[in-house]
Amino acid sequence: MNKLGIHALVWEAGWSEDECARAIAATAETGYDFIEAPALDPSLIDPVFTSRQLEKAGIGINFSLGLDFDSDISSGDPDKRRRGRRKLEDAVAVCRDCGGEYIGGILYSAFGKYDRPPTADGIAQSAETLNAVADIAARSGITLVLEVVNRYETNICNTAAQGVEMMKRVGAPNVKVHLDVYHMNIEESDIAAAIVETGEHIGYFHTGDSHRGYIGSGTIDLAGVFRALVRAKYKGPITFESFSSRVVGQPLEGILGIWRNLWEDGHDLAAHALMYTKAQLKAAEEAERQASQRSRLP
Ligand code: MN
Repeated sequence: MNKLGIHALVWEAGWSEDECARAIAATAETGYDFIEAPALDPSLIDPVFTSRQLEKAGIGINFSLGLDFDSDISSGDPDKRRRGRRKLEDAVAVCRDCGGEYIGGILYSAFGKYDRPPTADGIAQSAETLNAVADIAARSGITLVLEVVNRYETNICNTAAQGVEMMKRVGAPNVKVHLDVYHMNIEESDIAAAIVETGEHIGYFHTGDSHRGYIGSGTIDLAGVFRALVRAKYKGPITFESFSSRVVGQPLEGILGIWRNLWEDGHDLAAHALMYTKAQLKAAEEAERQASQRSRLP
């Protein structure tokens, strides 16, 4: 069974004690298995307090982050790469101390709009750094998942196929591909085919819709997405991600371009997304079962 999670930014913009406690409690009350907390700056997360809230609520946690241009491990500047490596190692430590299993997001480059394509050297540097960080993560049973995002948020992994290629260049057993339908809707020629082709390399999945508001209220063929996930035999975590100017603050609102208020009530949004996701998964499993047991004439 896929564990279902929700991004913390549906609830709160930061991770102060009050924000952390409220976000974790709301995630559990809605019925999700885990919360995905942003770790853009891992030093802002208190693992002792966070773990206590998770235990109280009875849910799990995973983390996601994107590096910034000052800590870009695909940069030609060794100081930037060093800062990036430290940030990734700090995220691994926070994840370990909170009992998390996955760190996703744009771990391989800066999270933002580049003004030029990547270089082979930059990609090699990124893969080398990630291999070293993956080694540390493996000691705590943590998997690093490389999120494939649209062209305005990185210049390296924009398609699922590039994500698989990058994963192979990193070459560590605990590094997998993190797909997100919002980005796939921008970059892939065929979302369902890309999911099926990525298959066993998918380690983490983000759902959402084309405008990142209520799931099902945009233009993405989500029935096709869930059928593809079932066909790919994907059993890993699925996180619902949605952003509204109601909650998101800087730097994310600036990088992601969250200018519109797509919803007011995070509780209603989250409850709807959980119901929708469970219904889609159930329908997709049933479709797959029927496809494999086609009715025959007597
Ligand atoms: Mn995402």
